[in-house]
Amino acid sequence: MVFAFEVSAVKFDASTNETRPILTRISAEEFAAIENSPLNENNPTELASQTLCSVWAVEVSRFMGVPYGSFMPDRAFVPGSDKPMHNINTVDLPVNVGVIKCGDEVILADSGWKQTEYHKETGTQHFTPIADELKDLGIDPSQVRKIVLGHAHWDHAGQLDDLPNATVYVQREELRGIEWALSYPPENRRGQPECRRLLPLARVRLRAADHGAGVRQDPARQGRGRRDGEMEILLGVRIHPAFRAHTNGSQLLEVPTAAGKIVFGSDAYSSWQGIRDWMPANIQQTDTVQQMLAYEKCYKITGGYNNCFAAHEPTSYTDQYPLLKDSRVGAHGERIAEVALAPGEKSRHP
Ligand SMILES: [Zn+2]
Repeated sequence: MVFAFEVSAVKFDASTNETRPILTRISAEEFAAIENSPLNENNPTELASQTLCSVWAVEVSRFMGVPYGSFMPDRAFVPGSDKPMHNINTVDLPVNVGVIKCGDEVILADSGWKQTEYHKETGTQHFTPIADELKDLGIDPSQVRKIVLGHAHWDHAGQLDDLPNATVYVQREELRGIEWALSYPPENRRGQPECRRLLPLARVRLRAADHGAGVRQDPARQGRGRRDGEMEILLGVRIHPAFRAHTNGSQLLEVPTAAGKIVFGSDAYSSWQGIRDWMPANIQQTDTVQQMLAYEKCYKITGGYNNCFAAHEPTSYTDQYPLLKDSRVGAHGERIAEVALAPGEKSRHP
C-alpha cells in the first residue's frame, strides 16, 4: 500500500502569521502510475547499470558558540576539567546538506534553510543559499529531482522553492507530527518557535512515503519493504524510517558509493562523535532509545560508524571526521567536502 500526498493549496492564517500547505491524498494507483511510468526518467529499471553515486557535503550555515552540553549532555563543560569529554565549553555547529549524484540524477539529503531573520537570532554565520552551493559544484538547481528530508525542521527543510523540479520525500508520520504541531493552540506554543517554523513545504510537490511504501516491481522486496518500512527511490538508494529518532517521522537515506554505503541521518545523526561513542545528541525532540537504534542501523548498513553522515557534527570538514575531511572553503566562508566520487565523476575541487 502506498500513501502519497500532494500540496493542493497553500493557506495563510493571519492570526498566527503562518503559511501552511493543504495536503490532498492521491491514490495508490496514481502514485504507482507516476513511479512506474516509462516517462519517469527516474525509474530505477533504467538505471540498472549505474550502482554508485557521488556525494558532496555542503555547509549551508554554521551555528556559532553553542554550549557543548546543550548539544550533547554527555559532553557538558566542567570548568577546570582536563577530561577530553568535559573540557570544551562551546562548539560551532554546521548545518550539513548532502548533495548526491547518481548518473545524471541529483538528490539532496535535506535542503538547509534561508530564514535570514532567524539566522540573526541563532548566531548563524556563513549562510550560503543552496542554489549557490549547487552552482559551486557545477550543478544547476533545476537539476535536483529528489529531496529526501531527514526531518522537516526549519534548518533542514527550507529553500524548497529554489529547487523547482524536485519531488520531496517525507514520511507520512512526519506530516502527522507537523499537522499536530500546527494544530496545537498557538497560545500554548509561544515558547516553542520551531512550531511556527516547521514547514516551508509550500509550492513544491510533496510526496509522503508511509511506512513500507514504495519498494516497487519486486514482490520479494515489497515484503521486506513493508517490514522495514524502506523506500527505494533509485536502485540501491533507500529511505529507512527512523521514527522518533529525532522527530515523529525521521528517516535515514542509504546511498551506495565507491567509498561504501553512506547513511545520511539528518538530526537522528546530529553528531558523528555521538554515533561513534554511543551518546545521544540534539535531544530536544528525541526518543533516546530510537536515536540509539538509528545509530545501530548505520552500523548495520555501513559496517561501522565512519560512513554515517551527521548534520551538525562540530568536527565536520576537519581530519577528526574522516568522511568530511577532504574539504575546502567556498565564497561565503562555508565549507564543502568531496565525500565520494563515482567512477568517471570529476573532482569539484579547484
Ligand atoms: Zn538540525
